[in-house]
Amino acid sequence: MSSPIIAPGATLGEGPGVTPFVAPGATLGVMGGGQLARMFVHAAQQMGYATAVLDADPASPAGLIAHHHIRAGYLDESGLAQLADLSAAITTEFENVPARALASLAGRRPVAPGAAAVAICQDRTAEKAHFDRSGVACAPHAVLESVGQLVSVRGDLLPGILKTARLGYDGKGQVRVDSRAELASGWAALGSVTCVLEKMLPLAHEISVIVARGADGAVVNLPVQQNLHRDGVLAVTQVPAPDVAADVQQRAIESARRIAAELGYVGVLCVEFFVLADGALVANEMAPRPHNSGHYSIDACDVSQFDLQVRTLTGAPLVAPRLHSPCVMLNLLGDLWFDDDGEAVEAGPDWAAVLALPGVHLHLYGKAEARPGRKMGHLTVTAESAARAAEVAREAAALLGIEGW
Ligand code: ATP
Ligand code: MG
Repeated sequence: MSSPIIAPGATLGEGPGVTPFVAPGATLGVMGGGQLARMFVHAAQQMGYATAVLDADPASPAGLIAHHHIRAGYLDESGLAQLADLSAAITTEFENVPARALASLAGRRPVAPGAAAVAICQDRTAEKAHFDRSGVACAPHAVLESVGQLVSVRGDLLPGILKTARLGYDGKGQVRVDSRAELASGWAALGSVTCVLEKMLPLAHEISVIVARGADGAVVNLPVQQNLHRDGVLAVTQVPAPDVAADVQQRAIESARRIAAELGYVGVLCVEFFVLADGALVANEMAPRPHNSGHYSIDACDVSQFDLQVRTLTGAPLVAPRLHSPCVMLNLLGDLWFDDDGEAVEAGPDWAAVLALPGVHLHLYGKAEARPGRKMGHLTVTAESAARAAEVAREAAALLGIEGW
C-alpha cells in the first residue's frame, strides 16, 4: 500500500479522495500516561509503531512502557513541542486534557479526537445539548449556574443527582439531593460551580456502546456492554449484555453512531446509556476515548478498542470488530490490597489462585501504590458460553473478595 507522508498540521482525511496513512514505524503520541494510554501503547507497539507519552508523573503506567516519556504538564509549551516533534499523529487518553493543549498540538500534527469534540465531552451541559442535536434522549435536567437558580428549579427534578458540569469522573463531583434544602447544601459542597441537576431515574440496567469513526466517516462499533457500577465506579462488564433486549441494544448502537457522526468525530468514542424498565434509552454521558467498559475487547474481540484507537489515529481502514468469546470483565480496585480491617496486605491478592481458573486474562497497570478505589487493573474471563464466563468470573470474584452480582 502506498503511504502518503503526512505533513505537519495536516488533518486526517484531508485531500481529494486520499486518506493519509501513518505507516507502522512512525511514532504515535498520547496525551496522558494512565492505564488507558498504557493499553493504547500496547496496541500501537504490537502494530510496529513507536510511542511517546506526555505525563508529568515519572511513574505513570504508560510512561513506564513507552519509547518516549515526556515528563511535563498538559499545558507545558516545551513538553507539547517535544511531543509534536516526536509524533506523526497524537491522541488523548483523558477528556480533561485542556482543549487548548489539543488545539495547540493540532497546529503542528494531526490530532484525533479533535479539540472541539473533546471540549463538548468536558462539559455536561454541552454534552447534553449535543445528545439533543443528535436526536438522542437524556435525563430530565436543569443547568444551575447561580445560587438564585436553585430556588426556582423544577420540583419534578427532585430527588435528583447534582453533578458538576466539568471535571467529574468515577462518581466524583456529584451528590444525591432529595430536597431543596439538600440542593443548596449540595451545591455549596460541590464548590458553587456550574452544575447539572438530573432527575434520579429508576434504572433497570446500564449499558455502553463504543464506536470508532475514521476521518473518512466510516464507523464501526463494538457489541453493547452491560455495566454494573458500585459507588459510582464501574465494577463488572458483561458482553453480550445478558438482560437487555436485542432491539434496545440496536437502538443504543444507532444512537451512539449518530452522536459520533453529528460531532464529525475521529477516534474512539464511548456513550453510556441508562435502560429504564419500559426499555426506554437515556444517554448518560460520553467519553472521547476508549473506556473502562471496553477493556474486555482486548481479550474477547478480534479487534480491541485500543486497536481501533490506533487505526482511527493512523488513518488505517476500520473493520468491524467481532466478539469471539462471551466474557465478563471485573475491575480490580485498590481495595483488594487491603484486609477487612483496612490493613494493607503485603503480598496483594492471590493471583495464582485466580490464574488457575480457565479463560482468565489478568491485566495490571503497573501502579506501585494501591489505594482504596484506585483502578489497579482488570481481569477478563472468556469462555465458550456466557453462562460459563459468568460462572468462572464469580469464582474469581469470590477468590479476590469482590462482591458478587
Ligand atoms: P464515569 O465518568 O466514571 O462514568 P461519572 O462520575 O462521570 O462517572 P456518571 O456516569 O454521571 O458519573 O454517574 C455515575 C453513576 O451514577 C451512573 O453510572 C449511574 O449508576 C448513577 N447515575 C448517574 N446519573 C443518574 C441518574 N440521573 N439517575 C440514576 N442514576 C444515575
Ligand atoms: Mg459515567
